[in-house]
Amino acid sequence: MIITILFVLIHFYAGAQRPFQQRVDVSIQCQLDDEAHHLHGQINMEYFNNSPDTLSFIYMHLWPNAYKDRNTAFTQQKLRMKNTDFYFAKEEERGMLDSLDFSINGSRIDWALDEEFIDIAKIKLSQPLLPGQSCTISTPFLLDIPVSYSRLGRVGTSYQLTQWFPKPAVYDQDGWHPMPYLDIGEFYSEFGDYEVEITLPENYVVAATGTLQEESEYEFLNRRMQETLDTLATNPKSSNHPFPKSADKMKTISYKAENVHDFAWFADKRFYVIRDTVTIQDGDRDTWVFFTNQEIELWKDAINYVNRSVEFYSEKVGTYPYPQATAVQSALSAGAGMEYPMITVIGLMGDAAALDNVITHEVGHNWFYGILAFNERDHVWMDEGINSYYDHRYMDEYYPGKPLMALPPILKGHSPLSTTDYALLYKMRDRADQAPTTHSNKFNSEINYFIGGYEKPAQAFKYLQNYLGTERFDRIMQDFYEEWKFHHPQPEDFRNYFEQKAGEDLSWFFDGLIGSNKHIDYKIADYDEKSGEAKIRNKGEIPAPIPLGFEKEEEKKMQWLDGFDKKKVVQLEKEIDQITLDPLLWTLDVRRSNNYWDTKKFLPGTEPLKVQLLSRLANPEENQLFVLPTGGWNYYDKIMLGLGVHNIGMIQRPFEFALLPMYGMGSNDVIGVGTVRYHHNWHSTTIQGLDLGLNFRRFNYADPPILDDDHLAYNRWNPFVKFNFIPKAGTPRQSWVKFEAIHLQREEVALGQDLNNPGTVSVDNTIYRAKYKWSDNHAIQPKNLWMELEYQDFENRNFSSNEYLKLSAKTTRKYQYKKNKFFRASLFASYFIVNDARESGIVNNPIQFNGANIALNQHALSDYAFDDVFFARTERSDLLARAVSTTRGPEFKLPINQWPNSNDNLGLSNDFAASLHLRSDLPFKLPALLPLEIYFDLGYFRAAPDSDLDEVFWSGGFMLNYADGAFQVFFPVAHSKDVRNALDEMGGNYLRSVTFAFNLSGSDPLDLRKSLL
Ligand SMILES: [Zn+2]
Repeated sequence: MIITILFVLIHFYAGAQRPFQQRVDVSIQCQLDDEAHHLHGQINMEYFNNSPDTLSFIYMHLWPNAYKDRNTAFTQQKLRMKNTDFYFAKEEERGMLDSLDFSINGSRIDWALDEEFIDIAKIKLSQPLLPGQSCTISTPFLLDIPVSYSRLGRVGTSYQLTQWFPKPAVYDQDGWHPMPYLDIGEFYSEFGDYEVEITLPENYVVAATGTLQEESEYEFLNRRMQETLDTLATNPKSSNHPFPKSADKMKTISYKAENVHDFAWFADKRFYVIRDTVTIQDGDRDTWVFFTNQEIELWKDAINYVNRSVEFYSEKVGTYPYPQATAVQSALSAGAGMEYPMITVIGLMGDAAALDNVITHEVGHNWFYGILAFNERDHVWMDEGINSYYDHRYMDEYYPGKPLMALPPILKGHSPLSTTDYALLYKMRDRADQAPTTHSNKFNSEINYFIGGYEKPAQAFKYLQNYLGTERFDRIMQDFYEEWKFHHPQPEDFRNYFEQKAGEDLSWFFDGLIGSNKHIDYKIADYDEKSGEAKIRNKGEIPAPIPLGFEKEEEKKMQWLDGFDKKKVVQLEKEIDQITLDPLLWTLDVRRSNNYWDTKKFLPGTEPLKVQLLSRLANPEENQLFVLPTGGWNYYDKIMLGLGVHNIGMIQRPFEFALLPMYGMGSNDVIGVGTVRYHHNWHSTTIQGLDLGLNFRRFNYADPPILDDDHLAYNRWNPFVKFNFIPKAGTPRQSWVKFEAIHLQREEVALGQDLNNPGTVSVDNTIYRAKYKWSDNHAIQPKNLWMELEYQDFENRNFSSNEYLKLSAKTTRKYQYKKNKFFRASLFASYFIVNDARESGIVNNPIQFNGANIALNQHALSDYAFDDVFFARTERSDLLARAVSTTRGPEFKLPINQWPNSNDNLGLSNDFAASLHLRSDLPFKLPALLPLEIYFDLGYFRAAPDSDLDEVFWSGGFMLNYADGAFQVFFPVAHSKDVRNALDEMGGNYLRSVTFAFNLSGSDPLDLRKSLL
């Protein structure tokens, strides 16, 4: 009780301490030139310094300059999100804010663009602005409106005037908050009153923040509304209408808005209009929708969604204070919808429920952004997270039992999870999600921004609502809204308020769920029917409260358990039939398959094992086993068929396996592949997690005539441990380190025996590797680097023992010189630190399948570790002998080093070799079936002392590159002398020098899964 009273006292004290805030009243006059796509304007801002500080300058945002060139923060962020559209935009598609000439109180002053960001300016005040004083900042401007690449823009003569005028940055208790314009990462602005006067051709329909002032324009809109209703009466179909010609006559209309922190408007000659009113606590509000014919079948009902969302948020959070609420369907190239005070813009949605959801979300931002004006750039979880929580609540109320974006049953089976739940689990299980408190420009991907900024906090708030009770939760939020409306609450203001009002420490919520990517994972470890004692273990990292449900004689009950670390014994009733932690899926427990205890089941503590055909998305709540028919082909086993079992789905499980045995029709042998993995992810600042695994493969690899019906098989055992480092936040850089062993058991013909029936012997060798890989997946200049240390000590026929230690490295850089056209360069080098073969003067031809040489030509015979997948390994006459590999290291594509002739040691070294590989797309459009590129390979190898070969050789030509390198065909055109000779000795037929590559080795399905989202 004392604590509660103390909290209340602190609360009143804190309430009195609401910090100062500046005020900026804005008036703009502007004129649209829809032929040049220019907006000519004049802006006057009355800046009130309510701070206790004297200001000598003001930071001014010039956000349209974000579209000026390729170096802006906006462009760079777009590239980081893998979107190159704006980077490759034509000059005339870009935009900027020009003709600025700032003056203070009527006299011109000095100003300069920020050194780092051209969309921020620093306005020097001629006289210091004292606390309590105000000044008038004015400037003319010419806005060159860009094509729609983000929020501000145009499509044809449809205009989206958002983030469009010079605007002061916020100055608050933490100082100035200048910020460049970004696509991902929103805004923070000062409150004030706005008066905006717009002149444009009179047949434009305009939707804007604020209240329209002209009676004549209301009449124009009323006529348009009558036309809209007439059109809707004919049940029109959605289609995109052309733009009507602009009227010669101009009109001037104006809008006033009080106590807002932004102003946006949208102009389109095609807009349909519907106007309505909605009644809330203290009276009526105007509601409007503006839309084109593009989704008229959905928008005919949209006014109801606006009305309902204004009612919903007014009731749940607090009375809507503004006179009107508008939704506009218009071009938007940043997300599905975007909020501005009193007005929201919605892109194309495709579905009525989705439209309702997005309209509600954006209208809801009037509360969480518009009225509670958070610093969205720094604290995305506050506006997006809290607002998403309410829009989810709205959807639960009006579309019960129908999760938005529900997965089709064929994919999800009977799992209760929604698409977003899957996305969340997918990232959380892999520890690839980021804390909701991450800065908006430090999320590593759009999906991380969505999960961290929107979905996880939304679910966390629902958890908090259920924990506190809906009534209590609502009261706290409503009181907070009343106390902080039209202000800039910071995260600590919000937390303090909630904890004081709730009367308890909510660290599990604010530090655990919102402030980190720690896991909640409770487990029922034991239940004793006789004593009624249940042991619950916290396997997660957050001591969060957890609801426990149990069933006894068909009666269901639920109670909350306070959060705890490690283990807790809970006294329950005796002889319970079933216990479930988090039975209503309120918490963010990452592993619910350990949440059940059913005393009637065979294996209490787990869900029963479910056997299903194919993987689907897999239900991470269940223990599943999937059955998978498999098939394949290679030269020796011929057609292979089998039936596999695995437990691998979209969401990572700690223990995963796949066993895919097959029967080879040609070899009459049981072959196949298998893998077993254990993933361990923990909460750390450097390592995302480790994968411990064993891969196994068995196939036949040779078919020597001497063996009659028999084939030679290999078994490849590959245990490994891989550490994945956490990517540097806000960069596309990733790295990992891997330690592995490859144990090969290879059958060979037992020579020296009876030649008619020689039999086989098994040759065993083990290769040890340590590999480090770093990659930067930048959209324009991606690059990567790997380094590998390889050790082997093997026995072969040449001599009893051969030991080597080899260091190899490769770096690849690409440059996108034109949209989707790349130039690529790779540099490879490899050196034997130790090599017995070198000391003995032996160059081993690759046919011996050992690693004691470096081979710059990579094909099945030089694949001594059986790293790659080849359809034939030892065939030397067939088409399949011309399969090469271009992914492992050096990228020469020559079919040489397979023939015992005088030029066939070309590119082989037992000491040192290096190579440079250049490749380029052609700078013009090609038919999809003809993805032609040019290539050039240059190699150096330290040849044996007695060799006649030139140590430098080269080869170049054309190639076809399908599916991003998955299948390639190489047509050499020119070679250095020794290459020509080697090819001649093979028969001199040009077709013999044409090679191809199936690059299948990189396609470990579990690695692919990591990069799906
Ligand atoms: Zn939002």
